[in-house]
Amino acid sequence: ADTVQVRSASARLLRIVDEATEQVQEQKATTEKRIRSLSEMVRGLHEELDQVKEEALEDALTGLYNRKSFDDRLENELRKARLAPYQFSLVMIDLDHFKAVNDTYGHVIGDRVLQACGKALQEVVLRRSDFCARYGGEEMAVILADCPGFGAAKVAENLRKSICGVRVKAGKKEIEVTASFGVAEGCDEDLAEDLIERADAALYVAKRSGRNKVVVAGEGEGRSVALPDSLL
Ligand code: GH3
Ligand code: MG
Ligand code: MG
Repeated sequence: ADTVQVRSASARLLRIVDEATEQVQEQKATTEKRIRSLSEMVRGLHEELDQVKEEALEDALTGLYNRKSFDDRLENELRKARLAPYQFSLVMIDLDHFKAVNDTYGHVIGDRVLQACGKALQEVVLRRSDFCARYGGEEMAVILADCPGFGAAKVAENLRKSICGVRVKAGKKEIEVTASFGVAEGCDEDLAEDLIERADAALYVAKRSGRNKVVVAGEGEGRSVALPDSLL
């Protein structure tokens, strides 16, 4: 009788162990499923975060970098120039008679022209190290890394031609635009505002001398461009 009892007890024990094993396996499967869905959620959140980060750096209308990104990049280039001999350039761009585009065709078409101009600039500025931003309104800026003033003038000339090629439909009409360009080379003594001022002064000369052209400031020696008396 003892043997029978022992057998039935061990049979029961085995059943219990089997059941417990089954339960553990089920729980394991459930936990694994939860982990999988949680990792998917985390991946989704990472993607969303990347998107948000990217949007924080971009201008919503043109997809170019925004002003904040521009400021950061310019500081970064100036830092490089202060640490070691390094040449880089800034191109300030302002669309010509853009107010007339808005006044004639409305702001929706004006916005489309801005978008098309942003694209036209990006098509020319292809190096990863170069940087194309909307500075504000209908002003854009390009930072050319590792590029002296004379090289930047050539790039700016290509940017100018690219803007000239922009066509935006407004009803039956096709709008064309031009832009003026001020180029300045960065200098190790520059504050960001000094460099921007030099590029702006050159841009001003481009505007006052007929628009749709590129003007280079002070040949990168840190001098501000001298404006002819007639323009002051
Ligand atoms: P100039 O050749 O001297 O630069 O003439 P301009 O008409 O381009 O100069 P102005 O600074 O007088 O005009 C800039 C215009 O750009 C005025 C403003 O309505 C327009 N603008 C600025 N931001 C935007 C925008 O986001 N969308 C649209 N549609 N227009 C904008
Ligand atoms: Mg302007
Ligand atoms: Mg303008």
